Amino acid sequence: KKITIAIDGFSSTGKSTLAKQLAKHLGYVYVDTGAMYRAVSLFAMQNGYIDADFFDKQSLINSLPFIKLQFKFNPDLGFAEMYLNDVNVENEIRTIEVSNFVSRVAEVSEVRKKLVEQQKEMGKAKGIVMDGRDITTVVFPDAELKIFMTASPETRAERRFDELKSKGQNVPYEVVLKNVQERDYIDTHRDDSPLVKADEAIEIDNSHLSREEQFDVVLELIQE
Ligand code: C5P
Repeated sequence: KKITIAIDGFSSTGKSTLAKQLAKHLGYVYVDTGAMYRAVSLFAMQNGYIDADFFDKQSLINSLPFIKLQFKFNPDLGFAEMYLNDVNVENEIRTIEVSNFVSRVAEVSEVRKKLVEQQKEMGKAKGIVMDGRDITTVVFPDAELKIFMTASPETRAERRFDELKSKGQNVPYEVVLKNVQERDYIDTHRDDSPLVKADEAIEIDNSHLSREEQFDVVLELIQE
């Protein structure tokens, strides 16, 4: 029987690595909800609704009906890529600029409402692995398996630093660490669906676990 696997946790805890591994192994669909918030942030940036010290929330809210988000599976990569209004934005949404704005955009209730609705719709097809910040609590409170991932901020900043570097973005480690800490703060303190560990969620601290070890831990949970 196919189930729903919901994964929440702080940024760069390896949620998407684990989710992708699980989806591949089980033949499930993987949905990266962070990509959706990132795409909405990119839209806000492209239209001049947000920058370092300014955010025209109302214009973004008014534009929401015109923001089309789609995942399209890329067989060469083995996972789905994010499309914003029919344009592939998979690379653009991963820049440090988008990372710096995304948590402020994700605080807007109207944005959350639109994305959560779309995510619930995708979940109607069983056999899904979805990761984010509110998947175990808001999107799929009835998921058969709920996981909460953690790791120290330093471990996470190192991972994000390496990831950005591998994509040719040389961002100083201190800047990456600051971004990770700021997002943690905003994500856990916002009024609308803050990041919390659901009571039933199984916590995995992967600061000292390899990818393989972490994967084995979760596979055992599924078999239980
Ligand atoms: O997972 P990722 O780091 O790409 O998510 C980017 C940001 O999007 C998070 O820091 C958070 O502010 C927001 N987000 C959210 N709810 C989700 C997924 C992401 O608020 N379900």
